[in-house]
Amino acid sequence: MFRRRARDDREFRQAQREALALRQIHAQEPWPSDTIQTKAPAADNGETVVPDFPPADLRAPSRHDVEGVMMRWMPPLVIDGEVHACPQCGTYRDWIVFNMNDDSVWLRCTAGHQVMEPRLDAAWFNRNCGPVDHWHPTLEDGLRHLGH
Ligand SMILES: [Zn+2]
Repeated sequence: MFRRRARDDREFRQAQREALALRQIHAQEPWPSDTIQTKAPAADNGETVVPDFPPADLRAPSRHDVEGVMMRWMPPLVIDGEVHACPQCGTYRDWIVFNMNDDSVWLRCTAGHQVMEPRLDAAWFNRNCGPVDHWHPTLEDGLRHLGH
Protein backbone atom coordinates (compact mmCIF):
# COMPACT_ATOMS: atom_id res chain seq x y z
CA MET A 1 0.00 0.00 0.00
CA PHE A 2 2.77 2.40 0.93
CA ARG A 3 4.90 1.50 -2.10
CA ARG A 4 2.00 1.82 -4.46
CA ARG A 5 1.22 5.29 -3.14
CA ALA A 6 4.87 6.32 -3.52
CA ARG A 7 4.87 5.12 -7.12
CA ASP A 8 1.62 6.95 -7.80
CA ASP A 9 3.16 10.09 -6.31
CA ARG A 10 6.25 9.69 -8.46
CA GLU A 11 4.17 9.24 -11.59
CA PHE A 12 2.04 12.23 -10.63
CA ARG A 13 5.09 14.42 -10.03
CA GLN A 14 6.61 13.26 -13.33
CA ALA A 15 3.41 14.15 -15.15
CA GLN A 16 3.43 17.55 -13.42
CA ARG A 17 7.02 18.21 -14.54
CA GLU A 18 6.19 17.24 -18.12
CA ALA A 19 3.13 19.47 -18.14
CA LEU A 20 5.17 22.35 -16.72
CA ALA A 21 7.87 21.84 -19.34
CA LEU A 22 5.21 21.82 -22.06
CA ARG A 23 3.72 25.06 -20.75
CA GLN A 24 7.14 26.72 -20.68
CA ILE A 25 7.78 25.72 -24.30
CA HIS A 26 4.45 27.28 -25.30
CA ALA A 27 5.16 30.35 -23.20
CA GLN A 28 8.36 30.92 -25.21
CA GLU A 29 6.57 30.81 -28.55
CA PRO A 30 5.61 34.32 -29.59
CA TRP A 31 1.98 35.03 -30.34
CA PRO A 32 1.17 37.20 -33.33
CA SER A 33 -0.12 39.82 -30.92
CA ASP A 34 3.20 39.81 -29.03
CA THR A 35 5.00 41.46 -31.93
CA ILE A 36 2.59 44.40 -31.71
CA GLN A 37 2.94 44.63 -27.97
CA THR A 38 6.74 44.61 -28.04
CA LYS A 39 6.73 47.51 -30.49
CA ALA A 40 4.56 49.57 -28.17
CA PRO A 41 6.52 51.72 -25.74
CA ALA A 42 6.72 50.14 -22.33
CA ALA A 43 4.81 51.90 -19.63
CA ASP A 44 7.27 52.63 -16.86
CA ASN A 45 4.85 54.60 -14.71
CA GLY A 46 2.75 51.57 -13.89
CA GLU A 47 -0.13 52.49 -16.20
CA THR A 48 -1.53 49.85 -18.47
CA VAL A 49 -1.02 50.65 -22.14
CA VAL A 50 -4.31 50.19 -23.93
CA PRO A 51 -3.64 49.40 -27.58
CA ASP A 52 -5.27 51.87 -29.94
CA PHE A 53 -7.59 49.33 -31.51
CA PRO A 54 -9.39 49.71 -33.74
CA PRO A 55 -7.40 52.62 -35.20
CA ALA A 56 -9.17 55.97 -35.08
CA ASP A 57 -9.71 56.10 -38.84
CA LEU A 58 -11.50 52.73 -38.77
CA ARG A 59 -13.84 53.68 -35.95
CA ALA A 60 -17.31 54.74 -37.03
CA PRO A 61 -18.46 58.05 -35.63
CA SER A 62 -21.44 57.78 -33.35
CA ARG A 63 -24.73 59.36 -34.32
CA HIS A 64 -23.95 62.24 -31.97
CA ASP A 65 -20.84 63.05 -34.00
CA VAL A 66 -22.86 63.77 -37.15
CA GLU A 67 -25.57 66.28 -37.97
CA GLY A 68 -27.98 63.64 -39.12
CA VAL A 69 -28.61 60.38 -40.90
CA MET A 70 -30.18 60.01 -44.34
CA MET A 71 -31.69 57.26 -46.42
CA ARG A 72 -33.29 56.95 -49.82
CA TRP A 73 -36.97 55.94 -49.83
CA MET A 74 -37.95 54.75 -53.29
CA PRO A 75 -41.58 53.56 -52.93
CA PRO A 76 -44.48 55.92 -52.20
CA LEU A 77 -44.23 57.14 -48.63
CA VAL A 78 -47.38 56.36 -46.67
CA ILE A 79 -47.93 58.61 -43.63
CA ASP A 80 -51.05 58.13 -41.48
CA GLY A 81 -52.54 55.88 -44.14
CA GLU A 82 -52.11 58.33 -47.02
CA VAL A 83 -49.52 58.47 -49.76
CA HIS A 84 -47.48 61.58 -49.07
CA ALA A 85 -46.83 63.93 -52.00
CA CYS A 86 -44.47 66.87 -52.13
CA PRO A 87 -46.59 69.97 -51.42
CA GLN A 88 -44.64 71.96 -54.02
CA CYS A 89 -44.25 69.61 -56.99
CA GLY A 90 -46.56 66.70 -56.23
CA THR A 91 -43.99 63.93 -56.60
CA TYR A 92 -44.73 61.02 -54.30
CA ARG A 93 -41.81 58.61 -54.60
CA ASP A 94 -38.00 58.56 -54.43
CA TRP A 95 -37.53 60.58 -51.25
CA ILE A 96 -34.46 61.32 -49.24
CA VAL A 97 -35.46 61.02 -45.59
CA PHE A 98 -33.31 62.76 -43.00
CA ASN A 99 -33.21 62.08 -39.29
CA MET A 100 -31.46 65.03 -37.71
CA ASN A 101 -29.67 65.16 -34.36
CA ASP A 102 -32.66 66.90 -32.78
CA ASP A 103 -34.72 63.80 -33.76
CA SER A 104 -36.67 65.73 -36.40
CA VAL A 105 -37.41 63.98 -39.68
CA TRP A 106 -37.15 65.88 -42.96
CA LEU A 107 -38.24 64.83 -46.44
CA ARG A 108 -36.57 65.90 -49.66
CA CYS A 109 -38.10 65.17 -53.03
CA THR A 110 -36.19 64.62 -56.27
CA ALA A 111 -36.65 68.32 -57.14
CA GLY A 112 -34.89 69.34 -53.93
CA HIS A 113 -37.94 70.59 -52.03
CA GLN A 114 -37.24 70.00 -48.40
CA VAL A 115 -39.71 70.09 -45.55
CA MET A 116 -39.87 68.85 -41.98
CA GLU A 117 -42.36 66.02 -41.47
CA PRO A 118 -43.64 66.13 -37.85
CA ARG A 119 -45.71 62.96 -38.28
CA LEU A 120 -42.49 60.93 -38.62
CA ASP A 121 -39.97 60.67 -35.82
CA ALA A 122 -36.61 59.13 -35.01
CA ALA A 123 -38.27 55.88 -33.91
CA TRP A 124 -39.97 55.57 -37.30
CA PHE A 125 -36.68 56.34 -39.04
CA ASN A 126 -34.78 53.74 -37.02
CA ARG A 127 -37.43 51.11 -37.74
CA ASN A 128 -37.16 51.71 -41.46
CA CYS A 129 -33.53 52.49 -42.19
CA GLY A 130 -30.85 49.89 -42.72
CA PRO A 131 -27.44 49.97 -41.10
CA VAL A 132 -25.30 53.04 -41.75
CA ASP A 133 -22.88 52.16 -44.53
CA HIS A 134 -21.31 55.49 -45.53
CA TRP A 135 -20.19 58.69 -43.84
CA HIS A 136 -20.33 61.89 -45.85
CA PRO A 137 -18.48 65.09 -45.07
CA THR A 138 -21.22 67.23 -46.67
CA LEU A 139 -24.93 67.04 -47.38
CA GLU A 140 -24.23 67.31 -51.12
CA ASP A 141 -21.89 64.33 -50.94
CA GLY A 142 -24.58 62.28 -49.21
CA LEU A 143 -27.22 63.30 -51.73
CA ARG A 144 -24.94 62.36 -54.61
CA HIS A 145 -24.24 59.00 -53.00
CA LEU A 146 -27.98 58.35 -52.70
CA GLY A 147 -28.61 59.29 -56.31
CA HIS A 148 -30.13 62.77 -55.86
ZN1 LIG B 1 -40.95 68.55 -54.59
